[in-house]
Amino acid sequence: MSGYQKPEAGPGGLRLHLNENTRGCSPYVLDRLRQLDATAASIYPDYTRAIERTAEWFQVATDEILLTNGMDEALFCATILALRGIPDGEAIVVEPAFDVYEACVRALAGQTRHAAFRRDFVLNGADVLGLVTDRTRMVFLNDPHNPSGARIPQDTIGAIAAGAPDALVFVDEAYAEFASGSFIERALGEFRNVLVGRTFAKAYGLAGLRVGALVGPRPLIARLRDIVPPFSLNSFAAEALVAALDDRGYIDEYIAESEESRRLIYEYCRRKGMQAFASEANFVLVRIGPRASVAVAGLAARGIFIRNRSDQPGCEGCVRITAGHVEDTRRALAALEEALCDAR
Ligand SMILES: *Cc1c(COP(=O)(O)O)cnc(C)c1O
Repeated sequence: MSGYQKPEAGPGGLRLHLNENTRGCSPYVLDRLRQLDATAASIYPDYTRAIERTAEWFQVATDEILLTNGMDEALFCATILALRGIPDGEAIVVEPAFDVYEACVRALAGQTRHAAFRRDFVLNGADVLGLVTDRTRMVFLNDPHNPSGARIPQDTIGAIAAGAPDALVFVDEAYAEFASGSFIERALGEFRNVLVGRTFAKAYGLAGLRVGALVGPRPLIARLRDIVPPFSLNSFAAEALVAALDDRGYIDEYIAESEESRRLIYEYCRRKGMQAFASEANFVLVRIGPRASVAVAGLAARGIFIRNRSDQPGCEGCVRITAGHVEDTRRALAALEEALCDAR
């Protein structure tokens, strides 16, 4: 496989395959973007205000955070820090994993070692530490986990970070807004080798503008400052970020909708005798079984896109459905019902 495979979706239609906020960003964000003048496009961005506001949002100091062009750039820069100039440097990825981890490791000519979850996406820290060698420089952990929605307990993350002190542990918290608890406080207070990645793509509805963040202890952030490009955020992204944080109501409403959507999906699956994994993110992994690809195609034919995850380890017969706005979820479940009936 070369690079990141961008999943296909036709134009229009209901996009429930990439965990985006299907209603877009908050109207307040759009208002603020409309007020930008021509110089916002013509001058290099100064996003000091966005850094201050985001630091405040995560309750960290401004030298404990870096804003990035989406979390993808955060992952890439962290991988550069960990693997640059290390011959045969190794990174550990817990599968199934977000594709970008492996793409970053490959870009730095590193080797990936794969750990696996136990049953039902339970991560045993010893399974990760068992893969550590004297060349291991990085460990990718994803909490809440995509595509299962499962949590990695903070003590497991802590044990891995403590047990692999020469590795940079990257905790990908792309879905933290939908869950209870972040590792940020412990990353700053207890460790010198843990970075937390955050994104404003999912809960905040800014995926198209590309805004992410790296949060970590000062010495790590200082070293990353030499790697992250000086103008990672464009002026529009920076303005949108501050505006999004100013409109907390919009985010809270979306988080509440997502909770209700998950509940609807669980309930549907219970009725149908299908396994739905308990999720703390804005999606649910559902084990449809052998009819999974028929269901995905049936939904696509009805203009609804969900993600087939059947080819991923531990996800046999599974699809991932974005669980955001309740109305979208109802439509998706109604279409799923039709698609499964057709498939009989
Ligand atoms: C969406 C996602 C990201 C990437 O976020 P961007 O800010 O859009 O680059 C990172 N990690 C996981 C697990 C994701 O699902």
